[in-house]
Amino acid sequence: MLLRSNALKSFQRALGRHKVLLAEEDLLTYSYDTTGERVVPQVVVLAESPEDVLSAVDFALDSGLTVTPRGAGTGMSGGSVPLKRGVVLCTERMNFIYELDRENKTILVGPGITTAEVQEAASKQGLFYPPDPSSHRVSTIGGNIAENAGGLRCAKYGVTKHYVLGLEFVSAHAEILQTGLLLADSLDYDLTPLLVGSEGTLGIITSALLRLIDAPAAQGTMRIFFSSLEAAGSSAATIMAAGIVPAVCELMDRSVLDAVSEYTGIRLPNGAEALLLVEIDGQPDQVSAGMAQVENICRNRRAVQVRATQDPHDAERLWRLRRSVSPSLARLAMGKLNEDVAVPRSRLPELIQAVQRLSKRYGLDIPCYGHAGDGNLHVNVMYNPEDLLQAKRARQAVEEIFKETVALGGTISGEHGIGSVKRDYMKLQMSNAEIEVLRHIKDSFDSEGLFNPGKVIPD
Ligand SMILES: Cc1cc2nc3c(=O)[nH]c(=O)nc-3n(C[C@H](O)[C@H](O)[C@H](O)COP(=O)(O)OP(=O)(O)OC[C@H]3O[C@@H](n4cnc5c(N)ncnc54)[C@H](O)[C@@H]3O)c2cc1C
Repeated sequence: MLLRSNALKSFQRALGRHKVLLAEEDLLTYSYDTTGERVVPQVVVLAESPEDVLSAVDFALDSGLTVTPRGAGTGMSGGSVPLKRGVVLCTERMNFIYELDRENKTILVGPGITTAEVQEAASKQGLFYPPDPSSHRVSTIGGNIAENAGGLRCAKYGVTKHYVLGLEFVSAHAEILQTGLLLADSLDYDLTPLLVGSEGTLGIITSALLRLIDAPAAQGTMRIFFSSLEAAGSSAATIMAAGIVPAVCELMDRSVLDAVSEYTGIRLPNGAEALLLVEIDGQPDQVSAGMAQVENICRNRRAVQVRATQDPHDAERLWRLRRSVSPSLARLAMGKLNEDVAVPRSRLPELIQAVQRLSKRYGLDIPCYGHAGDGNLHVNVMYNPEDLLQAKRARQAVEEIFKETVALGGTISGEHGIGSVKRDYMKLQMSNAEIEVLRHIKDSFDSEGLFNPGKVIPD
């Protein structure tokens, strides 16, 4: 123990006290993400360059410690919690833009840059980086890539993996490797898609080449209230089936609306049971035509109120209900299991009905909202953690929701990743043979289990 503590201190002296944290209060700060799972690491490294990452991996290999990569810690599946203590390797300070290539529409960044900073840099050049997790002001590109983050605009623009052209990463053998377009030659075996979504289990991303696209010329925003959740869900499915492809199509149920209304003071129209927030972008005439079509579809399903604007300032007002969901729900109960299940979007109404049945059966509030455009529903099972029976019922309800989701042809995680909290449920949607393939992939990158142990792959 003493040896190890001496080794930690000499590593701190070598890399610098500002980059290597050993004080108890600092270690606590890097012990959790938004799940509330908490394990205190033995050391935190705040890497400022790929060389710092290399040094930390080298040190971990020499001292028999594991390494848990971390961005901003906004993850929702326990991904950055260091289950075996060891080193938390935070890449948040590598917040660089190395190059924005206007002509080739690419941007080369460090892993610590936030999603919003990439979006803003692109926007200044008339370009657009579409992945848009609601955490975009805080979450890092490294974390987005590791989780293959989705967000509000997935239905039209896809998720993070559709924008990663190449990566640089530090391997479990302490080497700096490159993939995709960062390699001089393009190869058939491109490791980029394998690293995207690997949740920090295969390598530590030290830079990323991202694809940008032209910014849409115009956009229109619509806030539509419905008298039932089914009407909102089926309107979303009809909008997509009609080929309109909105950039955003967000759904909120009555309990979420109540919570947000109380939090923001915004009054809901009479009879409002659900809401769709729709954004359409493209050429101005396409936007106007699309908005008219959406309005028509929703009025046919007896929408209670439709508000629409093409003015960005007004649009912010319409967005306010959606943007306030997280803080509003946080006030509802001490305990919240927030699961991001996803089904083929035509089956969203069935999933919503199943969740409502489970809410009644377990006697628990389960507010729902999510990205209806791609069938991604955030179900929030609310409970009192001090009531142990209720906490158990909440976990049972979650398992039932996962089973219903898989039975509907869906997945237990639409965007937040598996991490530690959903690891044991992987068997619901993958066969033993498929899980075995994951194990082989992990072994070929990291046979000693150095990176992020206890995540994704069930024992
Ligand atoms: C209010 C709120 C809203 C959210 N909305 C969305 C949403 O709309 N869509 C969505 O997809 N997610 C959402 N999330 C979840 C979360 O923000 C994303 O998963 C995000 O990508 C995590 O980024 P991070 O920098 O915080 O990563 P962290 O939480 O620090 O880490 C997440 C994972 O990435 C790994 N990792 C981090 N950096 C690196 C690196 N450099 N190399 C290798 N692995 C690394 C970690 O080991 C961990 O497994 C939301 C979270 C919050 C709190």
